[in-house]
Amino acid sequence: MKLQIFPTYNELSQSAAKVIIDIIIQKHHAVVCLATGDSPLGTYTHLVQMGREQHVDFSKVHFVGLDEWVGIQPTNPGSCTHYLNKNLFDPLNISASHIHLFDGLSTNLDAECQKMNDTVQRLGGIDFMVVGIGMNGHIGFNEPGVSESLYAHSIQLEEITQSVGQKYFATETPLRKGITLGLQHFLQARAVLLVANGTKKAAIIQKTLEDTVDVKLPSTLIRKHTNGFVFLDTEAASLLKH
Ligand code: PGA
Repeated sequence: MKLQIFPTYNELSQSAAKVIIDIIIQKHHAVVCLATGDSPLGTYTHLVQMGREQHVDFSKVHFVGLDEWVGIQPTNPGSCTHYLNKNLFDPLNISASHIHLFDGLSTNLDAECQKMNDTVQRLGGIDFMVVGIGMNGHIGFNEPGVSESLYAHSIQLEEITQSVGQKYFATETPLRKGITLGLQHFLQARAVLLVANGTKKAAIIQKTLEDTVDVKLPSTLIRKHTNGFVFLDTEAASLLKH
């Protein structure tokens, strides 16, 4: 695992965007999995901007969603689908046939998971995955204690995930379940980048990088990844001992 600490969130975001652009330039058919949330927002803003400035060809890239809230309309501004459409796919003009997202409204979540597993396999696996980190150390919706052997699955969300998740929604919204790629997708992705910023992430980042590697804290698995990167700003890194 490689750790990089940046003086500001903006520098972190710029560097993360550059990593993604470089991967796409090297492999036009790259399969990229992108988290939603506040942490990677700056990365995507820079990705769109750099992509335009450098005339990067995104037309062959396949985008896979990391997770989605179950029962939330894709048009709801708090949904992961809406976030990715608004911040990436619409500005980059990505064709619908290259966008693979979970349907959180599916009445058969097992079938929805199987469909996503089949899609990832058919595309040849994930080349690059960008993830944030939950206040409880979740990756996607892989909540503490989840089995490491899982691929896509739906899951009951912890209280803290349900309450922190309210920040994405304009009104109080029930967020009991999520659907997510599994830790096997995370571990098997050819490279993963975890981004975290701000003092509110300092304690969970300290545990992630310094506690025992265990699914009790799913984010610690980044240290098991053969090609894992962690980009932090100085605030998120402020409690690291080493
Ligand atoms: P955040 O969410 O980037 O909005 O902090 C991270 C997460 O819950 O994975």
